[in-house]
Amino acid sequence: PFDVLVVGGGPAGAAAAIYAARKGIRTGVAAERFGGQVLDTLGIENFISVRHTEGPKLASALEQHVRDHDVDVMNLQRAVGLVPAGEDGLIEVKLESGASLKSRSVILATGARWRQMNVPGEEQYRNRGVAYCPHCDGPLFKGKRVAVIGGGNSGVEAAIDLAGIVSHVTLIEFDGKLRADAVLQRKLRSLPNVSVLVNAQTTEVLGDGQRVTGLRYRDRASGQEHEVALEGIFVQIGLLPNTEWLKGTLELTPRGEIVIDERGQTSLPGVFAAGDATTVPYKQIVIAMGAGATAALAAFDHLIRSSAP
Ligand code: FAD
Repeated sequence: PFDVLVVGGGPAGAAAAIYAARKGIRTGVAAERFGGQVLDTLGIENFISVRHTEGPKLASALEQHVRDHDVDVMNLQRAVGLVPAGEDGLIEVKLESGASLKSRSVILATGARWRQMNVPGEEQYRNRGVAYCPHCDGPLFKGKRVAVIGGGNSGVEAAIDLAGIVSHVTLIEFDGKLRADAVLQRKLRSLPNVSVLVNAQTTEVLGDGQRVTGLRYRDRASGQEHEVALEGIFVQIGLLPNTEWLKGTLELTPRGEIVIDERGQTSLPGVFAAGDATTVPYKQIVIAMGAGATAALAAFDHLIRSSAP
């Protein structure tokens, strides 16, 4: 069995694996796709001390750094079940392949995925005008026109944030009214360079083959289609944690985030979690890495206090 088994190979999982392995304990990582969301990212300019990098480059650096250590890396392995420790003190992780892994502690770092609009053009122009993370990509649209799709708290926060950087923001909400907190809505409406469209269903991302040039939406009240000319579209209709496989085994929030304390401890003894899959505020690479390190150190503390050899 492992001492620490990490599930997930994104920034959080990689950091957790390196921190665990450096304690000289038996460490494994099982990941569906090593690199995680970083693989889908183009430019990264907020990974502190690295002025600019690209997703695939950072993902391969993560994997190399993990492989420099004595870590059993199991790539292309999807976890489908978690069984709490029994008499033997071992936690079990069941894999889709039918195999199962046992460990004295487990670190869950399965990340999250952005909910997509699923309209024509979205996939084609992803990273070419279609963006999901205002903290990451906002500055790329300095002085340009953007839309934010989604009028919940994250959409309205994104619109307020972007309004300080870009020339104009159009906030587009499907429903008849915004769902964000009143204080955010008040702030939004006080900004001169923001317009809000409600009852608007985005139907297509428009582009010139290279980059986004606009979007098309349908006014749900009149049924009429309209076009908005712009350079960027931030999709803010939800971040879905990859935790469906954990339902019923440990405490999740109603949105599916794994509930952790400041050491990454979950509601199950010996099971820790880190990164975008958890309740950690703000989902970013540097934050996920720090959380992965925290969870590994907490798992090590747990191991030196438990009686098993
Ligand atoms: P993830 O990166 O999501 O990794 C999760 C890992 O778990 C993957 O290896 C996945 O395959 C695996 N996994 C999932 N489910 C299972 C399962 N059941 N069994 C086994 N393995 C599983 N952040 C920045 O700081 N700067 C940026 O510029 C930036 N740009 C971004 C651009 C885009 C397009 C996107 C999508 C995100 C961006 N982010 C950026 C956010 C950043 O990528 C995430 O915050 C970070 O990757 C989270 O790390 P994580 O390890 O928690 O999860």
